[in-house]
Amino acid sequence: MKLSFELSKKGRKGYTLPELDTPKTEIPTEYLRKNSPRLPELGEVDVVRHFINLSNLNYNIDRNFYPLGSCTMKYNPKINEYTSRIQGLNEIHPLQPESTVQGALQILFELSEWLKEISGMKEVSLQPVAGAHSEFTALLVVKKYFEKKGEKRTKILIPDSAHGTNPASAVIAGFTPVQIQSNAKGMIDPAELEKVMDEDTACVMFTMPNTLGMFESDISQLCDIIHRKGGLVYMDGANLNAFLGILKPADIGVDIMHFNLHKTFSTPHGTGGPGGGGVGVVDKLKDFLPVPKVIKKGETFALDYKFPNSIGRVHAFYGNFGVCIKAYTYIKMLGAKGLRKASENAIINANYVLASLKDYYDAPYPIPCMHECVLAGKHGTKTLDIAKRLLDYGMHPPTIYFPLIVHEAIMIEPTETESIDTLNDFIETLITIAKEADTNPDLLKSAPHNTPVGRLDEVKAARELSVNYFNS
Ligand SMILES: *Cc1c(COP(=O)(O)O)cnc(C)c1O
Repeated sequence: MKLSFELSKKGRKGYTLPELDTPKTEIPTEYLRKNSPRLPELGEVDVVRHFINLSNLNYNIDRNFYPLGSCTMKYNPKINEYTSRIQGLNEIHPLQPESTVQGALQILFELSEWLKEISGMKEVSLQPVAGAHSEFTALLVVKKYFEKKGEKRTKILIPDSAHGTNPASAVIAGFTPVQIQSNAKGMIDPAELEKVMDEDTACVMFTMPNTLGMFESDISQLCDIIHRKGGLVYMDGANLNAFLGILKPADIGVDIMHFNLHKTFSTPHGTGGPGGGGVGVVDKLKDFLPVPKVIKKGETFALDYKFPNSIGRVHAFYGNFGVCIKAYTYIKMLGAKGLRKASENAIINANYVLASLKDYYDAPYPIPCMHECVLAGKHGTKTLDIAKRLLDYGMHPPTIYFPLIVHEAIMIEPTETESIDTLNDFIETLITIAKEADTNPDLLKSAPHNTPVGRLDEVKAARELSVNYFNS
């Protein structure tokens, strides 16, 4: 495809202005540009076609299967787009008086109530706008909690199967992350945790299910070990879509957790946004959550800032309101039974993929898995080559080279929204690729062959970044 600059034809334009009906005034030359800007000159049709053609190069969940492990690229119901664009929600301003935005406050209030019901947590803040941002917010809450207790705890325990944002958030919040090794089953051994847990440890961060798609089978015992030494249990709940309506994190001993609204509760996301987070806490951590809190007084909703122990604000206004509307719509449409069904389907789909592929790929962890599974190519086939070859078959590859503890990992999350036909297509394609890897490995090494651009030199792209057309 050509750049808009290459399509430019001198004198083409996409606007028509009416005749001047006021006296013409000259702009003083000192305010005028010395050189005209180097902008493409194009007609309206040219511009529309250019951007439509560009957008058609994009891959998205409305186009085909998107099994990106850990990212939960589930289908986003179109009714979410409708509700988030209702004029009365879309065109309000966060500085309007509370009395004029009662509906918006009600949505935020009710969404928090539902997340409390889903998680068993005592209070939920919707202010953070991503998973990582929620982790950071939660760790500030943890820090403040221990400060108020007069305890100095500096360490945070993080399993090696955790999402990469966990150690990053710990460091940014001023803690020292300490890694815990998982065992051959992809889980944490209570004995292993016992060895590292001490009174300098503020909390442990469990991703549940973890990035191997495994649920810690000793979770209650693990939580006890942390609690006995006065620590807190943090749950990275980005993957809550694996057990909605099946288990409440509060019931197994979780003290503080985060939600990924854009993953579990369906908002189109990727490439950095838009996201919606949320932090849930048990009773003893309530006072430390960000302000303002949305409260209900009688039949009226209001913003309350009077929490002297709050960590303060972590975002302008009240978080990403549009994403909250989508999560609200998703939960309202599915209801309690529907949410549970969504999780059950997500788990069945992942297990179906794992069971169907385990003879063609290495499956380092046992069946059953939760909502995602991890494979690796057999006979040393490079994961990158498998992923590139999948593009030739018109499918988005799964997450690759993550989790880090699996060599050449391929991490598949089919999500609940895919039919058996789509899963069968995907499985057959991956089986074909496994066979190609044995019979015609060059086909994989040089893939993709059918895409607008072929195999990119990623090292060169990173080292010699060229994005500035104006200076070229
Ligand atoms: C996606 C994810 C995160 C980070 O969420 P962002 O919204 O991308 O910041 C954290 N933990 C887990 C387990 C995740 O899957």
